[in-house]
Amino acid sequence: MRMIFIGPPGAGKGTQAARLVERFQIPHISTGDMFRAAVQAGTPLGLEAKAIMDAGGLVGDDVTIGLVRERLVEPDAAGGFMLDGFPRTILQAESLERILGEAERPLQAVLLLEVPDEVIVQRIVGRRQDPVTKEIYHLEFNPPPAEVADRVVQRSDDTEEKCMERLSVYHAQTAPLVPFYESRGVLRRVDGLARPDDVTQRIVAALS
Ligand code: AMP
Repeated sequence: MRMIFIGPPGAGKGTQAARLVERFQIPHISTGDMFRAAVQAGTPLGLEAKAIMDAGGLVGDDVTIGLVRERLVEPDAAGGFMLDGFPRTILQAESLERILGEAERPLQAVLLLEVPDEVIVQRIVGRRQDPVTKEIYHLEFNPPPAEVADRVVQRSDDTEEKCMERLSVYHAQTAPLVPFYESRGVLRRVDGLARPDDVTQRIVAALS
């Protein structure tokens, strides 16, 4: 299965993608995770990405497309993939179409996880991740169990101010992907306003 996830920050893309890749046995390719790994490793890419990510902006299209192009030719992506957080601009979507078209491996599904803006801020500000298991929690809606509560961390771009900036970037640059993929007949809308288990069921139904 070759699919991508789009939706505003905090819609639950990461959580749902992690579940789907297990089900479909495909790699989870998150450009946000790749950039965070580069920041952590202190590579030149990481240094370039850090300031942009901290400001809630988007890393340049050329750099991002190059990263994804290299990742998609790795052997584990031959049988399919789940792209999470890419594409985020029309230029990225057009490049992806070209990359996959050249390999005669077009996208099969684009999942749009819909969550209203009012809910996003609340979700993002309370979001925490266990750095060991990578499990994502929410302080109020899905609190971390006592044994991991001391080690969960908040992403540096998950503050209210940065969340507002990321949302406005989403509406300006990423939302145009909705009509783009609708016109290609691959868009599947999923209401993301429910408990994670219910959203997973909706996604599986939308894919079948
Ligand atoms: P995410 O984990 O998907 O929320 O991504 C975190 C941050 O990484 C974003 O706010 C951007 O700064 C950067 N980023 C991730 N994916 C992309 C992309 N496809 N294009 C540009 N920047 C990206």
